[in-house]
Amino acid sequence: MITSYATLNEKVKDFLSKPIGLYINGNFVPAKSGKTFETLNPATEEVLATVSEAQAEDIDAAVEAAHRAFHEGPWSALTTAERSHLIYKLADLLEENREELAQLETLDNGKPFKNALEDDVDGTVNHFRYYAGWATKLYGQTIPISKQYLNYTVHEPVGVVGQIIPWNFPLAMASWKLGAALATGCTVVIKPAEQTPLSLLYTARLFKEAGFPDGVVNIVPGFGPEAGEAIVTHPKVNKVAFTGSTVTGKNIMKKAADQIKHVTLELGGKSPNIIFEDANVEEAIEGAFQGIMYNHGQNCSAGSRVYVQRSLYDQVLNALVEKANELVLGNGLDDKTEMGPLISMKQLERVLGYVQKGEEEGAKMVAGGKRAFDTGFFMQPTIFADVTDDMTIAREEIFGPVVVVMPFDTVEEVIRRANDSHYGLAAGIWSENIQTAHYVASRLEAGTVWINDYGLEMEGAPFGGYKQSGIGRELGSYALNEYTEVKSVWVKV
Ligand code: NAD
Repeated sequence: MITSYATLNEKVKDFLSKPIGLYINGNFVPAKSGKTFETLNPATEEVLATVSEAQAEDIDAAVEAAHRAFHEGPWSALTTAERSHLIYKLADLLEENREELAQLETLDNGKPFKNALEDDVDGTVNHFRYYAGWATKLYGQTIPISKQYLNYTVHEPVGVVGQIIPWNFPLAMASWKLGAALATGCTVVIKPAEQTPLSLLYTARLFKEAGFPDGVVNIVPGFGPEAGEAIVTHPKVNKVAFTGSTVTGKNIMKKAADQIKHVTLELGGKSPNIIFEDANVEEAIEGAFQGIMYNHGQNCSAGSRVYVQRSLYDQVLNALVEKANELVLGNGLDDKTEMGPLISMKQLERVLGYVQKGEEEGAKMVAGGKRAFDTGFFMQPTIFADVTDDMTIAREEIFGPVVVVMPFDTVEEVIRRANDSHYGLAAGIWSENIQTAHYVASRLEAGTVWINDYGLEMEGAPFGGYKQSGIGRELGSYALNEYTEVKSVWVKV
């Protein structure tokens, strides 16, 4: 157990000091099999906590609880205003516990505490408040068909929702999914990633304290092939919302197809970040750097392909290399740390494998490329030049602090090259020319395009992918459609 951080909040220390159960039907319970797993601090490789590991039988219990809460419990009888108040109350409690949650996020994921606090936790609070507001505003339409017939539509919750969360933004990704599901009146069985279950499990007690009826939210940590698949295939789960790798997303979609379940998939990316010669160069350099290095490159919308118009290429490349060499790596609890570790040894080895592949295929490594420190899963920020579009490092999602920087000459050329990917999650455009910026935005095949910025996410703006980056949209009013069925009612008058 973790004891070495004198500065840790007492509530966090207490939470980590005991084995943590599954949260089913309003109670923490051990897995029926008695199985547990350990979650590690990726900065120190120390064991943080022992967590119960959900198997299919536990998923069944969680789904049954969610099913009862949806069909029989007080949840379905609440007014929308009462539902809204519960979500607001949860947001208030999250805010009161922001330091504890941010510490847990830093310990479990490795990210710098400031990012965990101001981006992940405060973002989570904002997401819940945003969707609390929506709970009372789910209007249908009244459609006058003729003098004899009236039609009206009602947006009804889809029912029990299974949500599967990745490890890169453990609490924030959960809030994206939970906010819309709860606002629309669904009940939830949610599985955090096995690498990062702690912040969501800590939140379980806040659901209870806020007054959510038992069974409305069930939290079932475990592994993909057991707990994850049991959620996807359970006949009483009406919809699956997943964020993670495209490979797993395809697998989930195939399994969900057997029962024609609704799916929302938020998958990977290989997003282009394009710097035109009329850009504000300083801002573009900072945007390109943060666009890949933020969250250690473990970001589905990471700007992992930087295209620079040829006249600026050397300047931008040199500046990026300088920044990479200056970036301060360390434990996320240390104030000086700008970049923490990758999530696991497996992820570090995966990223190092891509670096090796890049060198083998002839790219020139101009910064980083190695593991940093002997302890912890730290990876140096890494930059490749002399990269061609067909190289593996220019095509596959690496999910680490590795960027390829490539020159281009014309607008049409860079549009073609940017779109030459089976991904289509996000893209960046840096140009002071309003026509160039909007023209290129209109041509890029990406669910999100940032002009003169990169990586901004707000609860009000939709997020999701084109092509193999996903299906459906999260955030904004768009997410509400993903959690509702539309009922069309005919009235003969
Ligand atoms: P993953 O997609 O396998 O895991 C994400 C979540 O899905 C976890 O909760 C996991 O337990 C669950 N899962 C895994 N297999 C499942 C299955 N068969 N059925 C149901 N749920 C399942 O990702 P990973 O193995 O942890 O990471 C591998 C790669 O995935 C990364 O290197 C990165 O490229 C990508 N990734 C992308 C995102 C993203 O936000 N787009 C997030 C995490 C990982």
